[in-house]
Amino acid sequence: MDKSKSYYIIGNWKMNPDNRKEALKIFEGIKKSSQRRRSKVVVCPPFVYLSDISSGRLPKSLSLGAQDCFWKESGSFTGEISPTQLADLRVEYVIVGHSERRAMGEEDEVISKKINALLSADLKPIICIGESRRDKDGEYLQFLESQLSFAFDEVTPVHLDKVIVAYEPVWAIGKTEEEAITGHSLHETVILIKRFLARKYGKERGFSVPVLYGGSVSPRNAEEILKEGNAEGLLIGRESLDPKSFSEIIDLADSI
Ligand code: PEP
Repeated sequence: MDKSKSYYIIGNWKMNPDNRKEALKIFEGIKKSSQRRRSKVVVCPPFVYLSDISSGRLPKSLSLGAQDCFWKESGSFTGEISPTQLADLRVEYVIVGHSERRAMGEEDEVISKKINALLSADLKPIICIGESRRDKDGEYLQFLESQLSFAFDEVTPVHLDKVIVAYEPVWAIGKTEEEAITGHSLHETVILIKRFLARKYGKERGFSVPVLYGGSVSPRNAEEILKEGNAEGLLIGRESLDPKSFSEIIDLADSI
C-alpha cells in the first residue's frame, strides 16, 4: 500500500461488554495503543457507553463510531437514536446495515434512509454488505450488487468522500481464522465493489471509496487480508474487545 495512505481499523463491540466499568477499561486500553498511529482507528461501542467514552480527550488517530441510528432527526420514535444525537456525542462514524441487523428484519430501503440521514448530518456511514453463502454460479455477486444499488441509490458524488463500504460475508462472521476469507478471494470481491462504484460515479471518484473487510479477523490473518485482499481496512468484532489483540492488528496495518 502507498505509504501516504492509511488503513481503517474499526472495532464493533456489538452488545458487549456487560457493564460500564469494563467498557471504560477496554476503551482506555485501546486509547493508549492508538496514539500517533498511521491507521485511522474507530471504536463503535454500544450507545449506552458513548457518553462516558466521549468525555475525555481522544488521540488524533482515534475516532468514535456507533453501531446503528434512526433516519429521522427527532420526534416520536420510541427507543431510537438520531444522527444528530450521535454527532452531539462526538460520534463521527456509524455502522449501517450490519448483517446482524439485517437478520433482525432491517431491509435495504431502511438502510438507504439511514445512510442518507447520516450524510445529511455530516456523519460517515460504514455501509455493511455481504452474502450469506457463496454459490458456484456466482449468484452471490448479483446479491452484492443489489445491496450496493440500494445503499448508494441516493448518495450523490459530493457525499462520496464520507462513505465507507465494509464487505462482511455472513458466512465468515464469528468463525475461526481458517474460515475467514482468503486474500485472493477477497481481492476479487473488492474489485467487484470498486467496479460498481466506478460505473456509478466514474473511475476516480468510485475508486476512492474505501472498501474494508470484516469477518473473523485476528492478528493471525490481518496481514494477508490487507496485503493480498487489497482491503483498505478491517471491521473487527470479537478481537476489538481485547485491547492487546486490537493493538497488534493496528501494529500490523501500520507496518504495511
Ligand atoms: C462483525 O460482526 O462485524 C465481525 C466482523 O465479527 P467477528 O470479527 O467477530 O467475526
